[in-house]
Amino acid sequence: MVISISSSGWNLSGVIKRSRATGIAFVSLCLAVGPAAAQPYPSRPITMVVPYAAGGPTDTVARIVAEAMGRDLGQRVIVENIAGAGGTIGMTRVAKSEPNGYTLLLNHIGMATAPTLYPGSIDPLASFEPVGLVADVPMTIVARRSFPPNTLKELIAYTAAQGQKVSYAHAGAGTASHICGVLFASETGALPVTVPYKGTGPAMIDLIGEQVDFMCDQTTNTTNQIQSGEIKAYAVTTSHRIPALPNVPPVTEAGLGKMELAIWHGIYAPKGTPPEVTQKLTSALQNSLLANAVLERFRQLSAIAVSAENATPSALKAKLIADIARWKRLLEGELVK
Ligand code: ASP
Repeated sequence: MVISISSSGWNLSGVIKRSRATGIAFVSLCLAVGPAAAQPYPSRPITMVVPYAAGGPTDTVARIVAEAMGRDLGQRVIVENIAGAGGTIGMTRVAKSEPNGYTLLLNHIGMATAPTLYPGSIDPLASFEPVGLVADVPMTIVARRSFPPNTLKELIAYTAAQGQKVSYAHAGAGTASHICGVLFASETGALPVTVPYKGTGPAMIDLIGEQVDFMCDQTTNTTNQIQSGEIKAYAVTTSHRIPALPNVPPVTEAGLGKMELAIWHGIYAPKGTPPEVTQKLTSALQNSLLANAVLERFRQLSAIAVSAENATPSALKAKLIADIARWKRLLEGELVK
């Protein structure tokens, strides 16, 4: 909390007296619960922060893995959504949390674009200990049910012709849905009005309600709605058709090969978390990625679970370093001129 002492006219001596009293009370409390400190980790529930709104694709991935990790760790892992500013509010909250293993972050590509798009706000490599990779998730270009274009080719022609009469939903600068839109625009010349949300969970509600025209979002948020016909799908950002959506062509088929995009997800702890704690979290993650229920759930949503032996801190760190450089290059150069 930042308090401006000069403008609020805080009585400092009162604050100091109060904090001394609180300090004494705190010390007595610590003495009273002394033996609890020796309890093995984890001795209470863990919070896993998702930096986007509830009900979206990242939230879905987090809830699947959090439940399984909780079972493995013998403590609940509770997902908390701290959304806003392209995910940087949630990222910052975790970065500033006590590095004790009780506050974690699950995030995706937003972690790699943040240093370029929000300079000075968050430095992912300096702020976090990687725990491990979770899953790769393709994206889908989707639209409200009665949006006129019916194929990707028609969408490209329609959005180019209609310009700002068309609206595109995304979850804030640097998020997967935003980046996918930037790629689409750079490939096709489309310049729709962009409508930012705190996550694509709420954006999906508006897409189903036909308040916004189209978006690009992870299959973990679109598969069920495409299958049920609540929204229409034009393409998946892969080089091949995916089993859950056999009628949706890959972007490469329509000549949009540069839109091939797999959104990798990883779990992080605040920098300074003790190695024995991150090791425990990594092994809980690896065990979760061996659980049939987890693999089946991911499979239904076209998420490709990372193999347990690759769910390591070093693999996540390498991915993050490479992607920070990749998105810096693309966002400062080729894509945004
Ligand atoms: N994955 C984000 C969400 O969960 C949205 C995004 O990255 O576009 O809402």
